[in-house]
Amino acid sequence: MAKRQCEEALAKLFEYIDGELTDTELLRIGEHLKDCPPCEAEHQINEKIRMLVSQAHSDKAPHQLRERVLSTIQAARAELQAEG
Ligand SMILES: [Zn+2]
Repeated sequence: MAKRQCEEALAKLFEYIDGELTDTELLRIGEHLKDCPPCEAEHQINEKIRMLVSQAHSDKAPHQLRERVLSTIQAARAELQAEG
């Protein structure tokens, strides 16, 4: 497998999720994620984390939510490692 592509995709996942890359990069990483299940799994987790973090950072988020976010992230990580 093209390991270099994996490294690039993983390094730019958050930017990819936030749409902060150039069109070319978005397309390239998007294509890679489709072809590469491990990177796609990581992408899914990062997207979830991104969402939870932005929720946790909003003023509305109670302390409890923040705790839940952290345990969700840990569970997601553990799940990925178990599959790995
Ligand atoms: Zn990959």
